[in-house]
Amino acid sequence: MSVTIVDWQQHCDEDGILWLILDKKNTDTNVLSVSVLEQLDGLLDEINGSLPKAVIFRSGKAKGFIAGADVKEFLDVTNTQEALIMIKRGQKLFSRIAALPCPTVALIEGFCMGGGTELALACDYRVALDDDATRIGLPEVKLGIHPAYGGVVRATAIINPLKSLELMLSGRGLSARAARSIGLVDSAQPARQIERAARQIALSPPARQQMPLLGKIISLPGIRNLVAGYMKKQVAKKAPRQHYPAPYAILDVWANYCGDNKRMMEEEANSVARLIQGNRVRNLIRVFFLQTRLKGLGDKKSFVPRHVHVIGAGTMGGDIAAWCALRGFSVSLQDREAKYLGNAFRNAHRLFGKRLKTTAQRNAALDRLIPDINGDGIARADVVIEAIFEDIDAKHAIYREVEARMKPGAVLATNTSSIPLETLATVLKEPDRLVGIHFFNPVAMMPLVEIVKTESSSGEAVEHAIAFTQHIGKLPLPVASSPGFLVNRILMPYLVEAFTLYDEGVAPEAIDKAATDFGMPMGPVELADTVGLDICLSVAQNLSQAFGIDVPGGLGKFVDAKKLGKKTGSGFYHYKKGKPVKDKDANLGDQKMIQNRLVFRFLNEAVSCLQEGIVADRDLLDAGIIFGTGFAPFRGGPINHSLEEGIESIVQSMTDYAGRFGERFRPVDGWSLLSE
Ligand code: NAD
Repeated sequence: MSVTIVDWQQHCDEDGILWLILDKKNTDTNVLSVSVLEQLDGLLDEINGSLPKAVIFRSGKAKGFIAGADVKEFLDVTNTQEALIMIKRGQKLFSRIAALPCPTVALIEGFCMGGGTELALACDYRVALDDDATRIGLPEVKLGIHPAYGGVVRATAIINPLKSLELMLSGRGLSARAARSIGLVDSAQPARQIERAARQIALSPPARQQMPLLGKIISLPGIRNLVAGYMKKQVAKKAPRQHYPAPYAILDVWANYCGDNKRMMEEEANSVARLIQGNRVRNLIRVFFLQTRLKGLGDKKSFVPRHVHVIGAGTMGGDIAAWCALRGFSVSLQDREAKYLGNAFRNAHRLFGKRLKTTAQRNAALDRLIPDINGDGIARADVVIEAIFEDIDAKHAIYREVEARMKPGAVLATNTSSIPLETLATVLKEPDRLVGIHFFNPVAMMPLVEIVKTESSSGEAVEHAIAFTQHIGKLPLPVASSPGFLVNRILMPYLVEAFTLYDEGVAPEAIDKAATDFGMPMGPVELADTVGLDICLSVAQNLSQAFGIDVPGGLGKFVDAKKLGKKTGSGFYHYKKGKPVKDKDANLGDQKMIQNRLVFRFLNEAVSCLQEGIVADRDLLDAGIIFGTGFAPFRGGPINHSLEEGIESIVQSMTDYAGRFGERFRPVDGWSLLSE
C-alpha cells in the first residue's frame, strides 16, 4: 500500500521492507526543509508504532538523493536561540532514525550532500550508486558552518578521523568508490544491482561499519589533540581563522569532545549556532545563490557544440584548448608553426594527468586534442576562439581568413583583453557574429568567463557563447564591451594603488598583509608578480589611457630590468621554488590606511562599472568580482560589502582620502544611486 504525505512516499514491499521515498513537491531537487523534516518525524511515529522488517531511504528524483538542508531557511535565523532550536530539532530527528530497532539503509543515487549525508550516516548502512554522477559529501564549510545534525559525531565515529575530518574541512564530494574506500558507504553498486544490494543488506544485515584500528588510535585523547593542532596549521595556510572559523570549529568539536557522544552532539549544535551569527554565513549563502544564478544563465540546450577550434597556442589558447578537451569536446589547436604547439600539449598532458583518473580517460582526452597548423578544423568547428597575441593587424588577418572558412551559425569569439571588439569586427562580413569569450589565467583554476557583447553583437551569438561556456563548466558573466570589461577594470586601480604604495616606500609584505587581512586570497603585489609584471604593465597602460589612471614608475622599472615576477624568479619579491620569499620583519606601517587605500579604489571602480551598466545589475557585479578576482567571498561582493558598511560612511572616508592622498579617491556619482 502506498501512502503519500506531500513530500514523502512510503510503501511496504512483499518482504516487509518499508521504502521511504523523498520526492519534494514542485522542485527537481530534494532538500531537507523544515517541512520535509516534520513530515519525516510524523512517519517515524508511525514506524515506531508498527515496526517494519527494515527501512530503506531513497530519492524519488531522476537525479540526486538529497542536496542538503534548505539553505534559504538559514537566512530566517536571526539569533543563537533560533539556530539552536532548528539544529536540535534536526539532531533529535536523526537520532530517532539511528535508534530505530530495525535495520535502516540509505540508497544513494547521484549527489548526496550536507544534511543528506547526515541522514545517510544516521542509517545503519549506506549503499551508493557507482556512476559518474554520484557525489557524497559534507560541504557545509563552504557556507561558513559545519554539519550540525550529528554529522561530525557520526562521521568521526565510524570513519578514520583523518579521512572524515578531511571530508568536512575540504567540503569535497566523493564518488561512490572513494566513499566506499574510506568507509563512508558500505557498498558501491552499479545501477542494475543497487536495489538488490540494498534489499539484501536490509534483510540480512551484515556486521556494521567499525572504526579501523588506526582511526581508534588517532582518536585517543593525547593523539587527537596533536592531530587537530597539525590540521589547524594546514588549514591556516588556506583559510585564516579570523575570516573562516568553521574548519577550526570542526577540529575543536572533535578534539575536545570525541568519545563523549552526548556532549559532542551538544557542542556540535552550539558551535554551529555560534557560527551562524553575523553576516558571514549570510554572505556565503549569497555567494552560493550568485553561483547558482550564473550557472542558470542562458539555455544550454539551445546550442550543443561538438567541435572547438582554437587559434593561438600560447599561455591562454593552449590552456583553453586543453580545458575544452578535458570537458569532452573535440578540439583543434592552431598556431603559426608546429614548434609553438609543444608547450601547449605538454601543459595539456599535465592537466589531464591531474584531473583524470584513469589512463584510458587521459588518452581519450589527448586524442580529442588535435594539432592543426593549417586550420583544417575551422570548417567543422561550432566555436572558433581566437587567442593570438594582442595585435590588431594580426587578429584582423586571422578573422578575414577564418570567416570565409567557418560554417554558418558557428560562434566566432576572441579572447582579447584590451582591443575593442568593435575594432576587431571591422574586417568581418558579418560583424555581429563576433563575441568576446574572455577567459582568465590560469584557465583551469579560474571559474569565471566574461562574455563580451558589443552594441551590434547578435543575440544568437551571445546566447550561444553563454551556452558554450556552460557546456565547458565555467560561469558566464555577460559584460558590455568597454576597456578592461569588468574584472580587469576593477582590479587595475587596486593593483595600481599597490604599486603607488610601493613607490612611496611601503614594504610589499605590508601591502599584501593589508589585503589578505581584508579577505583577499592573495595580496595585490604577489598577484601582480604571479600574473607577470609585463602583462600588468600592458593592461595598466591600456586602461590608463581610457580612464586617466597614473601608472607609477616603479612597475616599468621592473619590466625594463626583465624582472617580470614569478616566471623570471624575481619581481617585487624573489622566488624560491616558485614561492615568494617574504621578509618576516618587514615594517607593516599603518595597516588600516593601506587597507583603506586598496579597498576604496576597488569599491569606487566597482560603483563606476555599475553606474555605466558594464553588467546588468548589482548581483552580477558582485558575482563577477567574487568569481573573477576571489574578492573576500564572506563579504558577499564589493557592492554588498559597501551596503553592509554603510554608503554614507564609505563616501565620507573616501572624500577624506581624496583630500589626503589625491583625487583618485573622490567618490564617483554612482554612490548616490546605491543608497536609493
Ligand atoms: P601568447 O603570446 O602567450 O600566445 C599567443 C600565441 O599566438 C603564440 O603561440 C603565437 O605563436 C600565436 N600566434 C600569433 N599569431 C598567430 C597567427 N597568425 N596564427 C596562429 N597563431 C598565432 O599570448 P596570450 O597571453 O596567450 O594571449 C592571447 C590572447 O589572450 C590575447 O588577446 C590576450 O589579450 C588574451 N588574454 C591573455 C591573458 C593572459 O593572462 N596572458 C588573459 C586573458 C586574455
